[in-house]
Amino acid sequence: HTQDGMAGEPLVVRVQELGKSYGDVQAVKSISFDVVAGKTLTLLGPSGCGKTTTLRCIAGLETPTHGRISIAGRTMFDHASGVSVEPEKRGIGMVFQSYAIWPHMTVGGNVGFPLKIKRLSRTQVRERVARILDLVGLGDLYDRSASQLSGGQQQRVALARALVFEPQLVLFDEPLSNLDANLRDRMRAELQRLQAELNFTAIFVTHDQQEALSLSDQIIVMRNGLVDRLGAPKEVFQNPATPFSARFLGCANNLQGEVVQAAYRPGDSVTVRVSEVMSLAGRWCSEEPAHVGTMATVAFRASHLSIGFDDSILASTENTFEGQIASASFLGDRIDYTVSVGGISVHADGPINPSFARGDTVHLVISRDNCHVFPGTES
Ligand code: ATP
Repeated sequence: HTQDGMAGEPLVVRVQELGKSYGDVQAVKSISFDVVAGKTLTLLGPSGCGKTTTLRCIAGLETPTHGRISIAGRTMFDHASGVSVEPEKRGIGMVFQSYAIWPHMTVGGNVGFPLKIKRLSRTQVRERVARILDLVGLGDLYDRSASQLSGGQQQRVALARALVFEPQLVLFDEPLSNLDANLRDRMRAELQRLQAELNFTAIFVTHDQQEALSLSDQIIVMRNGLVDRLGAPKEVFQNPATPFSARFLGCANNLQGEVVQAAYRPGDSVTVRVSEVMSLAGRWCSEEPAHVGTMATVAFRASHLSIGFDDSILASTENTFEGQIASASFLGDRIDYTVSVGGISVHADGPINPSFARGDTVHLVISRDNCHVFPGTES
């Protein structure tokens, strides 16, 4: 009964014009997306943009104020016709940030609980629980009391419990945010392995761009209850498409100025005069033309700006500037400099060696392909 996507792949999830308001607060305004079977879609965005609300609507824990949701071709919610399937009948596994396992039960008891409710026999439950515990690396802890587990182990129990009834769709709400950096990296890799093995479809919520980039097939950057950008991780990272997505995906520099060389199509070269000493050539990122004299925003990463003491780093005269180091922050593998270029601050990453000191005069250069230019100045 699955629907098919445009390329003919079976869709597990279809969300259409979903909206949810709490009184005057429009937590989700209108959001639409499809998720293909076996793939991972991530909702990425800052606190309060509506990620959790979207997930809870799909799970059936919130009643949307408009829109439709179907899972594997079956309508789960339709505002117009009044259909609303109960959460436990949607066949969805859920893993949340607070993993809420039952401390008075054993590991096996926690994981087997959803199966007991489904009236499976004792042996069937034991077999399936043992299998899933093996898969999440807790095979030895079947009879251990859940209160005697580390945070990482508890998170795995929660994961096993969500996966044990082999749901075709699993929802994850910041499931890794309580774990330390090492464990988080391991769990990310493990989630990918589990997904390949069990072949479930996943919707993931995070505000961590690294997590989104490494785990997803598709990313939705959400802003104020709307989709700001939807695409594959590489696409979204390399072609941010909006100033908001650019900033959210790590473009620390957002400079505004006047268009001095026009562009007509997306990808065209465009030049923006940011100040008397700074004009930037970049790639135009809009369907609308950029007319001379209009305002525009140039976004670029600190890592794309090369920084050096002398002008030997300057292979061309385009997009080259002189500035003074205003501050430096040591980030372990690199230094993040704030450089003043004629009074305008830019962020540039530099190596540990050689390093620059406050007040040093430096040269900066960036290629035009790494400057994304958007119409207007609102960000
Ligand atoms: P975070 O990353 O902080 O969890 P989020 O992107 O998941 O944020 P939501 O939790 O979906 O955001 O919240 C979206 C908006 O809806 C926020 O402005 C929030 O204050 C509001 N909101 C969420 N739940 C409720 C509720 N039960 N009653 C009223 N307002 C709510």
